[in-house]
Amino acid sequence: MKQHFLTNYHSHSHYCDGVEPPRAQVEAALAQGVRVLGFSSHGPVYFDNAWSMKVEKLEAYLSETRALQAEYADRLELYVGLEVDYLPSEDASKYGGPSTYAPKLDYTVGSVHYLDRNEIGAPWEIDGSSEKFMRGLVEVHGGDIQKVIRLYYGCIRQMIERDPPHIVGHLDKIKIHNIGNSLYDEEVPWYQAEIDQTLDAIAASGCVLEVNTRGVYKKNLTTYPSLSILQKARQRHIPIMVNSDSHAPSEITAELLPTYRQLSDLGFRTFRILTQGQWQDVAFDEQGLYL
Ligand SMILES: [Zn+2]
Ligand SMILES: [Zn+2]
Repeated sequence: MKQHFLTNYHSHSHYCDGVEPPRAQVEAALAQGVRVLGFSSHGPVYFDNAWSMKVEKLEAYLSETRALQAEYADRLELYVGLEVDYLPSEDASKYGGPSTYAPKLDYTVGSVHYLDRNEIGAPWEIDGSSEKFMRGLVEVHGGDIQKVIRLYYGCIRQMIERDPPHIVGHLDKIKIHNIGNSLYDEEVPWYQAEIDQTLDAIAASGCVLEVNTRGVYKKNLTTYPSLSILQKARQRHIPIMVNSDSHAPSEITAELLPTYRQLSDLGFRTFRILTQGQWQDVAFDEQGLYL
């Protein structure tokens, strides 16, 4: 009999913009059939924002999650990570990225939430409100969405090439502003060329590509990235894993199993996960992973 289990390496707590402390995440994970849980609060950034951990909280985050890792060792595998921002070029070299934090962690999720500068010269948030996104798009970039999308994937490639994280977070998340293809059509050649180039970079890097379910349960979207992108990832033999990007204990396994089924339909048979201290390819089916 296969013993099925779930994993999630992308979870937030009250250390950043999630709710509830890490212990509540752990208890919820146990109750939801999770065998491996990774903590990945938003790492600090050098400017004020609504969702990152304050830099002065980092040590407490690390010691609290390490203590839980030891306390629960016989019941649940826990890993200590961060979702680290990769900031546009000059900021990345000044303030660091995944490799800055990696020595203290078991793994890093690298994500692009900021691009270029906004209309007042501050980092332009492209992961939050559409209002902020549209203001930057129109006022700074003259409404040129193609230019902005190229900047976005260019920034992700720069991260992968210069400062690769273990896991590439929510690859095409910028599509949250493209509801109903209002800004661009994902099928057009220039968009697909950006995707191809970015997937080639991921394939060459050895990074794990995250399949993130948050868009499915929060925004009625598909996974990040879209299934058509994942199909291309499979052709390139890019290792993947599925994460919920939970911001509350109740979300830890949200939409994982339906996503496993879709990935199985696409022909994926294994996920690359961190377990027993090593990155391994583990088989899965529509009921979970199994050893
Ligand atoms: Zn993120
Ligand atoms: Zn996240």
